[in-house]
Amino acid sequence: MYLQKLSLSGRTAVITGGARGIGFACAQVLGEAGARVIVADADPAAGEAAAAALVGEGHDAHAHGLDVTDAAAVGAAASALNARFGAVDILVCNAGIARSNSPAESVPDDEWRLVVDVNLNGVFWCCREFGRAMLARGRGAIVNIGSMSGEIVNKPQEQASYNAAKAGVHHLTRSLAAEWAPRGVRVNAVAPTYIDTPLTQFGMRDERLSRTWLEMTPMHRVGRVDEIASVVLFLASEASSLMTGSIVLADGGYCCW
Ligand code: NDP
Repeated sequence: MYLQKLSLSGRTAVITGGARGIGFACAQVLGEAGARVIVADADPAAGEAAAAALVGEGHDAHAHGLDVTDAAAVGAAASALNARFGAVDILVCNAGIARSNSPAESVPDDEWRLVVDVNLNGVFWCCREFGRAMLARGRGAIVNIGSMSGEIVNKPQEQASYNAAKAGVHHLTRSLAAEWAPRGVRVNAVAPTYIDTPLTQFGMRDERLSRTWLEMTPMHRVGRVDEIASVVLFLASEASSLMTGSIVLADGGYCCW
């Protein structure tokens, strides 16, 4: 009875930025749980390659090129994918970028706008456009990938744009959850610590940064992509049916101190 709640058989899931890193692991776990998965990445070739790899692992996977900062393109993708697959039941808003080591007093306008555009506006466009069809059907689960950076200020790198955007994602998650709960759509977020992906290589390779990161983490290690994907599976499935508006920390204890 309990394990059955984790089954996503018959569901369709869209994962933005799913070509690599945390997004690819999310596509793997949702596929393993029985969902049809659609990799929606800004790089169409990388998305196709990821979908092919997922098919090779035995999953029902497809690719759809999508830049989440383009609101019109997000709307078109939501219409096309809902029409093609009957319904999109699960949305994982994972696409994100970081611009770190960027002191606030000298952040260029373009850099600030880009980080907020991808990490916050992109999440809203996707929630709005895919959420509309979920609301019409009275069913859906959205999982946003936030960050512990939305709860604390990272040390020592200076990344105000990223931290502010992720805090926005967390409160957007709660806001949508409250609006949409009576209409059957749940909205939750995962807030990871440092995860070993291309996004964090700048810090992993820097002795000063990586030492500080580990010292500040009670578990004294960074995370793996599968350790975030398994939380996403839980939040996307009926196993979390009473949860909406939750920001689930998966941070090795970082926010305890
Ligand atoms: P990666 O850089 O490894 O992967 C991000 C993916 O998103 C890439 O495939 C990238 O494609 C895609 N992407 C970037 N911009 C867009 C866009 N505008 N539209 C669609 N896709 C896009 O990152 P991670 O896997 O590490 O991060 C995934 C999420 O997890 C992000 O939201 C990140 O902020 C969050 N996170 C990551 C942590 C970490 O330590 N890694 C910690 C906390 C949160 P392309 O190659 O074309 O740019």
